[in-house]
Amino acid sequence: MLPFKLVYSDAYYLPIGDHVFPAEKYRRIRNRLISTGVAEAADFLEPAPATDQDILLVHTPGYVHKLHTGTLSPREEMEMEVPYSRDLVDAFWLAAGGSILAAQLCLTDRVSISIGGGFHHAFPDHGEGFCMIHDVAVAIRRLQHDGKIHTAMTVDCDVHQGNGTAVIFAGTHRRSLSLPSVSTSTLRRSEGPPRPGRMRQAHTGDVFTISLHQHNNYPLWKPPSSIDVDLPDGTGDDDYLAWLDNALSSGLRQFQPDLLCYVAGADPYKEDQLGGLSLTIDGLKKRDELVFRAAHANSIPVMVTFAGGYAMNLEDTVTIHSNTVIAASEVFS
Ligand SMILES: [Zn+2]
Repeated sequence: MLPFKLVYSDAYYLPIGDHVFPAEKYRRIRNRLISTGVAEAADFLEPAPATDQDILLVHTPGYVHKLHTGTLSPREEMEMEVPYSRDLVDAFWLAAGGSILAAQLCLTDRVSISIGGGFHHAFPDHGEGFCMIHDVAVAIRRLQHDGKIHTAMTVDCDVHQGNGTAVIFAGTHRRSLSLPSVSTSTLRRSEGPPRPGRMRQAHTGDVFTISLHQHNNYPLWKPPSSIDVDLPDGTGDDDYLAWLDNALSSGLRQFQPDLLCYVAGADPYKEDQLGGLSLTIDGLKKRDELVFRAAHANSIPVMVTFAGGYAMNLEDTVTIHSNTVIAASEVFS
C-alpha cells in the first residue's frame, strides 16, 4: 500500500481517435502499477468531475459556453489540436476534478498523484496543443477559493513551455534578474539575440510558475513564467538536472508556496516524437526525485499531473510515468 493516494478514472481516456497523444496511456499506467506491485487497487481514488463553477475560476464564461454548446469556430478547434466532442468536454472536466482531488489530498498526505491532467497549454479563453481546460490552474484556484491555500508554485518539466500557466498566473511585474547558472557553456555571454540555455525571471503574483522546456519547440510564443529555463536541443540528463536544481533553489529562495504543482511530462525523453531533449528513463526518474526531495525538504505538499509523453514506444512513456509514482513512494515513504 502506498503512503499516498493515486487519483484515476477509466474515464480519463480522451476520445480523440487516432492521434499522437496516446489517450490509452492512463489505463496502461494504472495496470502497470498494479501488475508490478507498486500499487494496489485501494491506492486509487476516483475523482468527480469539476463543476462549471470550478472551471469558471480560470476560464471565461464565453469559452465555457462554446464548449457546452459545441460552438467553437473551426479555427478554435484547429488550434486545440484535438477533435471537439461532448465526450471530450466531459473528459476534461473530469481531469480538472482529478487535479482538484489530488491537490486536496496532498495537503494531508504530503503528496498525491493524478494519473492524468497537466493540460498546461489551455488559456482562459481558448484551448491549444491538445489542452481544452487547464486542470492544474482550476485546482489551484479552487483551493484558494476554499481558503485551503493562499499561494502555489507550478514546476513544469514537460518538454513544452507552460504557456497557459504563464498567462493565467501572470502577476505583477517585478524587475528582471539575471540569475547565475551552473551551465556556463550555454550562458549568454555577450549582447545580441538571446540564446537558448538560459534562465529568465519575469514576474510573480500569488502563484509562482517555473517552466523548464526545450527552446526550439512549441509554443513559438512563450509568455514569461516567473522562471523560464530555455534549454537547447539535445540537453541530456546531467545538464537538465543541474538546471532544474538551480531553478528549484532559486524559486524556493524567492517564494514559499502552500502547494507545489508538479507537471511531470514524459516528453523530455530522448525518444519522444514531439520533443528534442535527450533525457534517459533513468534521468527522468532522477528529475522526479529532485522535485520530490525539494518539496519534502521544504515541507511543501506536492500534487502531480502527467501532461505529455509521445515516446516512439508507448511502453517507455508508461515506464516514465510509473517511475514518477515509484520516485514519490521512495521519497515520501
Ligand atoms: Zn509536452
